[in-house]
Amino acid sequence: MKIYHIAYEPTFRSLDIHFWTKCNLSCQACYTHYEKRDFGLLDDPIAGITQRTREKPPKRFLTLAEVISRIEDLEIERAIFMGTEPTLDPEMPQLAQALHHHFKCYNIILTNGLRAFDLTHIDEVIFSIKALSDKLHRDYTGRSNKNIVKNFIAIYKSGKKLQAETVLIPDYIDKYEIERIAEFIADIEPNIPLRIDAYFPVGDNPWRAATADEVEAAAKLATKSLNKVNCLTLEMKRIGEKSVRIF
Ligand code: SF4
Repeated sequence: MKIYHIAYEPTFRSLDIHFWTKCNLSCQACYTHYEKRDFGLLDDPIAGITQRTREKPPKRFLTLAEVISRIEDLEIERAIFMGTEPTLDPEMPQLAQALHHHFKCYNIILTNGLRAFDLTHIDEVIFSIKALSDKLHRDYTGRSNKNIVKNFIAIYKSGKKLQAETVLIPDYIDKYEIERIAEFIADIEPNIPLRIDAYFPVGDNPWRAATADEVEAAAKLATKSLNKVNCLTLEMKRIGEKSVRIF
């Protein structure tokens, strides 16, 4: 498998499973090359991230059997598939099935949605929509969003629980672009939740961090069309105990 790192959040009995695949997007603000550890393990995960140079990719990966043997004594209510793009690991569906079988847990996958994937043992999809404008999307990720838009609609129609996520980048992917993303989602179903994350600077990008006020202003516009909008700002503190590293 492509699993290089696992962390466990005791408070929520939640397992964060980090995949390292060759992502099919090239987002300019992708932080995974600068911090590969689970944010729940760190007191201030983004402190000093702008000063860092790119880390080397991981070398050691776990097999499915190794994953199960390392987690078998844990009480797991939720498993979250994250890291780079987890849907690109061909063994992801087997892992989801094994987790359902062994732990009866609730499987959540974070995806960029570019490629359709097997949803059989996935309970919830957190689907990242980087931009609705195809021109902006191509500029930010290097790829068109046409398939992403189609796949978002397809997942909604499949009946799987679906949540959208996006990142507010000041003067680039701004509150008006987020308003357009919200309108696109609302045309499908206004009860699909949208989470707006604050951008934090990584690499040599020109953008500054998004403030809490800016994220809230974007959320205010998004709530004109959507019923459930949440914010993830840089000031927010961890809820619950610190995570534990499993691998
Ligand atoms: S989709 Fe996620 S992992 Fe892939 S490049 Fe973008 S931010 Fe990085």
